[in-house]
Amino acid sequence: MIINQIKLRPGEGKDVLLHKIKKKAGQKIHNYRILKESIDARNKKNIFLVYSVEINYDTGEDSTMKIPKVSSEKPPVIVGFGPCGIFAALVMARAGLKPVILERGQDVDTRTAQVETFWKEGKLNTESNVQFGEGGAGTFSDGKLTTGIKDPRVGFVLRELAGHGGPEEILYKARPHIGTDVLKTVVKNIRGEITSLGGRVIFGARASGLEISEGRVKGVRYLLEGEERTVETDHAVFAIGHSSRDTLKWLRDMGVTMAQKQFSMGVRIEHPQELIDIAQYGRPAAELGLPPADYKLSYRTVEDRGVYTFCMCPGGRVIVASSEEGMVVTNGMSYHARNSGKANSAVLVDVRPEDFGTDDVLGGVYLQQKYERLAYQNGGGYHAPSSSWGELRMGRAPKIRECMPDFVYDSIKEAMPDFGRKLKGFDDDEAVIYAVESRSSSPVRFKRDEDLMGELIENTLQGFYPAGEGAGYAGGIVSAAVDGIKVALKIIELSE
Ligand SMILES: Cc1cc2nc3c(=O)[nH]c(=O)nc-3n(C[C@H](O)[C@H](O)[C@H](O)COP(=O)(O)OP(=O)(O)OC[C@H]3O[C@@H](n4cnc5c(N)ncnc54)[C@H](O)[C@@H]3O)c2cc1C
Repeated sequence: MIINQIKLRPGEGKDVLLHKIKKKAGQKIHNYRILKESIDARNKKNIFLVYSVEINYDTGEDSTMKIPKVSSEKPPVIVGFGPCGIFAALVMARAGLKPVILERGQDVDTRTAQVETFWKEGKLNTESNVQFGEGGAGTFSDGKLTTGIKDPRVGFVLRELAGHGGPEEILYKARPHIGTDVLKTVVKNIRGEITSLGGRVIFGARASGLEISEGRVKGVRYLLEGEERTVETDHAVFAIGHSSRDTLKWLRDMGVTMAQKQFSMGVRIEHPQELIDIAQYGRPAAELGLPPADYKLSYRTVEDRGVYTFCMCPGGRVIVASSEEGMVVTNGMSYHARNSGKANSAVLVDVRPEDFGTDDVLGGVYLQQKYERLAYQNGGGYHAPSSSWGELRMGRAPKIRECMPDFVYDSIKEAMPDFGRKLKGFDDDEAVIYAVESRSSSPVRFKRDEDLMGELIENTLQGFYPAGEGAGYAGGIVSAAVDGIKVALKIIELSE
């Protein structure tokens, strides 16, 4: 039985929740679980936490994800160990397929040390960085687990994350988040399960080519310690993320079908967290016993461009997330406690294929690179160039202004007063702007058929599965994981 709309005041504990559940259910309760917790702050004088709970729920096995047992002569290969590759590998390993995973970056502990060195000393490792390595692009993130997709496998993803060391609350919070610190442990624990089932993760292994015979994948070539090797396989999942531009290039050059895709570009904006709390709750979050407030804003310009905030990190920090020499891209991340006192978010504008100025399928990549290079030059190295919104708006920050196309700047400038009306203080002149936020999604989409296989020179390339965010089929941690599961289940089905 499900009960909705149970309201608690901030600060009231789970004992009050149980009391209210009992009152509503009018019966003895053996167990209950929270399905959803959200904050209703529409009336700032009367803020509530609103719960949906299921009572006397079945604690048995999850029935939405039955994984059959299969075997195969050659192991499936997964390129990339981000959320997509991780979940594809987990599902395949549980099915008995013993996947081989090639990951160009390093394991999460080595990678964390490399990223710290990059942030402190500006020494970039182009193979292992904020974009590449165990856990994928989302590892140094806020670990927000919200998703727009409606897929029954979303629940499976959240349960597995919680079951491998993530906080229980991600199962019911309306806007769940893990934080970079906890996410790293979860990723290691999932790898532990995959390897215990016979899977193999090879770090520092960059996929560099495909062996193909009669329209079928026969193997994946990869570089490890400067030497090219081949792993034989009938199934190769390419879960490479949106930043593996060299890989996209060799796949394009060999004739794999992909198309230009709309993406977004803009800046990061940072405010004091208290400003956001007061705008949303009327008072600082801590005084109310609530988590730091977040927001989501959108606007359509007179020229019909979408402008929106994305990947908002309450209590987080702005980071440089480069993966190529001489280029700077910003992003945001936070720890589970979200206690930095600052709030940041991307402010993004639609960038459409007609803005790319070329028919080359990698036109969007070239546009990203152009502005990422300018951000590097104008910031004087691996620092995101920054200014206040006031300086930028009044034309006093040409170095930031140069780091984005005119239509991006004009759209943001038009949207800011509207955002300020919706969220008091958002357009304050003191807000800090960082350039450039250019990699919120992939600028290409791979063609896939009904079996989720890609295409080579207008024919299905049997056994080749482009997947996840880089392939253009996901836009975040959870949707990338779900796409990995879909592909794994397809390979399992074909192996039966
Ligand atoms: C700083 C930051 C913060 C973010 N915050 C959030 C957030 O809070 N919530 C959210 O939902 N999303 C967030 N995202 C986006 C999210 O990380 C991505 O949507 C998600 O990771 C995509 O998953 P994926 O598995 O498809 O690709 P990725 O995570 O990009 O993983 C691809 C992997 O493939 C590897 N690879 C690439 N090419 C090769 C090759 N040739 N050979 C071997 N390995 C290769 C890469 O090293 C990488 O590890 C954030 C991203 C960044 C960068």
